[in-house]
Amino acid sequence: MTARKEPPSPQEFYIAYPLYQEFTFAKEEVQAGWEVMFSQEPIDTYCPECNAHSIFRRHVAGTISLNPDAWLRDGHFVVRLKCSRNADHELYFLFKVEGRTMQKIGQYPSLADLNTYDVRQYAAVLSRDDFKEFNKAIGLAAHGVGVGSFVYLRRIFENLVDAAYQTAKTGSEWDDDAYRNGRMAERIQLLEGHLPEFLVENRSMYKILSEGIHDLTEDECLAAFPIIKMGIELVLDEKLNAAAKQRKLELAKKAIHGLVSKAGTEPRSNTGV
Ligand SMILES: [Zn+2]
Repeated sequence: MTARKEPPSPQEFYIAYPLYQEFTFAKEEVQAGWEVMFSQEPIDTYCPECNAHSIFRRHVAGTISLNPDAWLRDGHFVVRLKCSRNADHELYFLFKVEGRTMQKIGQYPSLADLNTYDVRQYAAVLSRDDFKEFNKAIGLAAHGVGVGSFVYLRRIFENLVDAAYQTAKTGSEWDDDAYRNGRMAERIQLLEGHLPEFLVENRSMYKILSEGIHDLTEDECLAAFPIIKMGIELVLDEKLNAAAKQRKLELAKKAIHGLVSKAGTEPRSNTGV
């Protein structure tokens, strides 16, 4: 990947990053590394013990150095987060530091446990197989299995793009040859209006989906994982919103229908008196 990635926020590094995925902070980004080690910002994530989302706060033992370089000591550190509903509900993360490179090397509960809660809602808008594979991909990535998780995510992503294609190709201006011969980034561009805007704007991020599995390393796959997962979730979020809107419209239609038929019967009952 050529584009320099933004340093992860503490929440991203704790909750979204798979184990063993390294991030090297640039010299001008040491403050972002400090945040991962010391930040007291509240973290919004799933609490397996509450079985609901909760706000977690950092539990810090000892003093915090405000020096942005304070984390630059080779070794390990532990992040302990306490659920704001019940201080006995804790999340732990173990990090390793080497130079300006940080990686998460352990956590409890597992990344899969923390993340599958958010994924559960998508069961309504994914096929059974895709939903199973989505969970499998998250579990694999959580254990540092890059290529394997990537294969599952790629298939789900392609299925979603294909569903958008099935709708788009019925349009009169549709250029099917361009689509069929296009690589993933070009296909996403052609599907503008049928896919979330964010995907279209950031389509170059999805170039990696056109590369052969054998050309990709474990690390490249792990690095692409959060981007592809987010792309999938954006598409699914739109589907969930559309389904919710549809339900509301039907309820409104029913309510209006009820009101109209009630209004229609009232005069008659009045004339009877
Ligand atoms: Zn809790």
